[in-house]
Amino acid sequence: MTSKISVLGSTGSIGTQTLDVARMHGIKVTALTANKNIRLLEQQAREFNPTMVCVLDLGAAAQLKIALKDTDIEVYCGEEGIIKAAEEASCDTVVNAIVGVAGLLPTIAAIKAGKNIALANKETLVAGGSIVMKEVKNRGLRLYPVDSEHSAIFQCLQGCPENSLKKIILTASGGSFFGKTKEELMGVSVKEALHHPNWNMGAKITIDSATMMNKGLEVIEASWLFDCKDQDIDVLIHRESIIHSMIQLKDNAVIAQLGVPDMRIPIQYALTYPERLASPTKELDLTELTAMTFYKPDYETFECLAICREALRKGGLYPAVANAANEVAVELFLKERIKFLDIASIVSDAVSGFNENKTDISLEDILYTDKETRQKVREKY
Ligand code: NDP
Repeated sequence: MTSKISVLGSTGSIGTQTLDVARMHGIKVTALTANKNIRLLEQQAREFNPTMVCVLDLGAAAQLKIALKDTDIEVYCGEEGIIKAAEEASCDTVVNAIVGVAGLLPTIAAIKAGKNIALANKETLVAGGSIVMKEVKNRGLRLYPVDSEHSAIFQCLQGCPENSLKKIILTASGGSFFGKTKEELMGVSVKEALHHPNWNMGAKITIDSATMMNKGLEVIEASWLFDCKDQDIDVLIHRESIIHSMIQLKDNAVIAQLGVPDMRIPIQYALTYPERLASPTKELDLTELTAMTFYKPDYETFECLAICREALRKGGLYPAVANAANEVAVELFLKERIKFLDIASIVSDAVSGFNENKTDISLEDILYTDKETRQKVREKY
């Protein structure tokens, strides 16, 4: 079990829930980072007394330095500061709860510094899965999934013999717009898209759930974590978010992991593995459910899921392109500069306009492609 953690993105949805778990189990916190929310970061720093904190934003870091001047906590800024938090000497596990591909370099830095990783930041694996998984393996480290679906698969696999997995069944809530047609989605607002039926999450992942890009990113994430191909991963809509995912074994036995939709369960398992400790979450009472429902995904209306699968099949830099285009598109949608359905069009254009079949990719290739893709989308919108 982990005893000391650095939390990257501590002020976000996953970050704050990670600190709930740390508080409950007395896990020491050695570093905290944020983009710019210094009010919450200061509170967290005063409560957990880490060695260091970092804010990406230079001006916010200067203010935080003044606010924390009565403490011994060191205050850093910028991407170098976040890397420093990922490498913080005394921690054994880095929880990466940063949103977006900005989490990739800190993950690699943490691995190179010999840290285990508790990974919420799925974009890291989508863009850089080949490099991250190779580094983890070569250094004999562990990468624990925090995403609830991947944690569920990881939990289901405990005790299964190696090579017994036949298929992964990733469940999906269907997001805010399940059952809608393209026509109905044409005019939906940011507010409507941000209304998720079951989970309370950061804005980017909530929009990704509404477009089903999130499930597409998760298919790619699962392919790296569990060494599977696109055809080995099914997606199943399960509106109630009680079954967090399933595995089907070679003998066609299916194992599922269930629980109330509360991210503190997978976060805690990533930090306490292989132990099972008491949790602040509600118990699951199946008698409270009137039904559990399952549907096939609508790949035509929610194109992002199909595009991610295509990017996974093409491999190489295609997933990084899909991810980068989506990150910019979601940002533009949240600023009300494009319509909801434009998100899928932007991702689709980026993937179909990319023509590069390199399979042995470097970190430089990924960073270059990410930057180029973003630039192209920004130039057009
Ligand atoms: P939030 O937006 O709530 O939090 C993101 C965190 O990262 C905040 O601390 C934010 O700081 C910080 N941050 C934002 N941009 C940057 C940047 N460029 N560089 C460094 N730090 C940055 O996101 P979530 O917690 O919802 O999601 C985090 C990750 O976890 C995502 O990859 C998401 O897909 C994944 N995930 C989330 C789930 C959830 O339930 N929320 C479930 C499963 C996976 P500040 O607060 O200052 O902006």
